[in-house]
Amino acid sequence: MRKNEFVYFDNAASTPMDPRVIEEVCRHFKMTYGNASSLHSMGLNAKEVLEESRKMVALLINAKVGDIFFTSSGTESDNLAIKGVALQNRSRGNHIITSSIEHHAVENACKELMKQGFEVTFLTVDEYGLIDVEQLEAEITDETILISIMFANNEIGTMEPIKDIGRIARERDIIFHTDAVQAFGKVPIDVDELSIDLLSVSSHKIYGPKGVGMLYIRNQGRRANGCKYIRPIMHGGSHEKNMRPSTENVPCIAGFAKAVEIARKEMKQEAQKLTRFRDRIITTVLNNISGAYLNGHPMQRLPNNVHLGFRCMEGETILISLNMENIGASTGSACTSNSTKPSHVLLAIGLTPEEATGSLRVTLGRFTTEEEIDYFLETLPRVINEIRNMAPLDSWFCCGNRVKI
Ligand SMILES: *Cc1c(COP(=O)(O)O)cnc(C)c1O
Repeated sequence: MRKNEFVYFDNAASTPMDPRVIEEVCRHFKMTYGNASSLHSMGLNAKEVLEESRKMVALLINAKVGDIFFTSSGTESDNLAIKGVALQNRSRGNHIITSSIEHHAVENACKELMKQGFEVTFLTVDEYGLIDVEQLEAEITDETILISIMFANNEIGTMEPIKDIGRIARERDIIFHTDAVQAFGKVPIDVDELSIDLLSVSSHKIYGPKGVGMLYIRNQGRRANGCKYIRPIMHGGSHEKNMRPSTENVPCIAGFAKAVEIARKEMKQEAQKLTRFRDRIITTVLNNISGAYLNGHPMQRLPNNVHLGFRCMEGETILISLNMENIGASTGSACTSNSTKPSHVLLAIGLTPEEATGSLRVTLGRFTTEEEIDYFLETLPRVINEIRNMAPLDSWFCCGNRVKI
């Protein structure tokens, strides 16, 4: 590695924008400044860019163009889906089923609804982070109005059995939402094949600009009988068919669409490359560093996610040492990394609080090179060794035994 070049291994937290996307966004910031609701040429032009972007996004998940709704983020999409369904379906029932490893956007939207009288079941997961579809079926009651299970976990990379969940939800006539922020643009998604009713994504996780998200709403939020099943949570103008008011951020939405277009063309090849890198890191680390183990499912995981545990160590210490070597990784999800609480995901897969703090998430991306993997694999064992030699007391304290390296 050249000196001072930063190795960015935190693509699950956010991705750098693709240069092709930057070009697209800049072009539209200069040219497409009209309000997409205005009736003069500049407005109509913005409207056209907006609708072209919608088509591009629909294409990637095999959705109808009219079922695509732009939002400001993945978080907003999750909130609109969950609260929108809850508010509209209160008379049908007050029960929601989700998992215990959801992103905070889903988890805390559900917890807010609990304060408002809804009942929420948080399904447990196995040691790999997988929900049990039989348990899901068993938890369904006459009151269940929504199932919200993430497509792929942002910390440990495990991919949930979405097709089975969709089938069950469809059979029981329950609305199915999935937070697909981590999976979208990385693995193929077909909302029809998977029986998905609502799907949340975010632009900045797929090399697009920050502050843009999308919610897919099957049949524009109408059930087969014509009744609405989702209600907006913000009120204002008639943008996005009244589902999500406020002036559309057309330049960034166009950038998001460009990112989607690139993903559609390059996803397959990129996933192959990243899977190879991923497995190389996992194999090398598990073989060469004592006390290291893998979190998440060994196969059913995102192509770009490596999540490692190191016994008797603090993830944060490893992170800081790696940063001094110009490597940027994570201890878990970005939103929890500045709190001292162990990750709810790692506790849910059965790690102890001590084990949960000794973890390192390495998420690769489009611009990751073989050279960076080489550098990481020669740096990590050295860094771990140095930490273990420096703090033998911690090791004693933690394991009652000094770790042999
Ligand atoms: C990043 C992320 C979100 C939030 O998306 P933002 O656009 O950052 O609000 C939600 N869910 C998952 C799984 C994520 O990884």
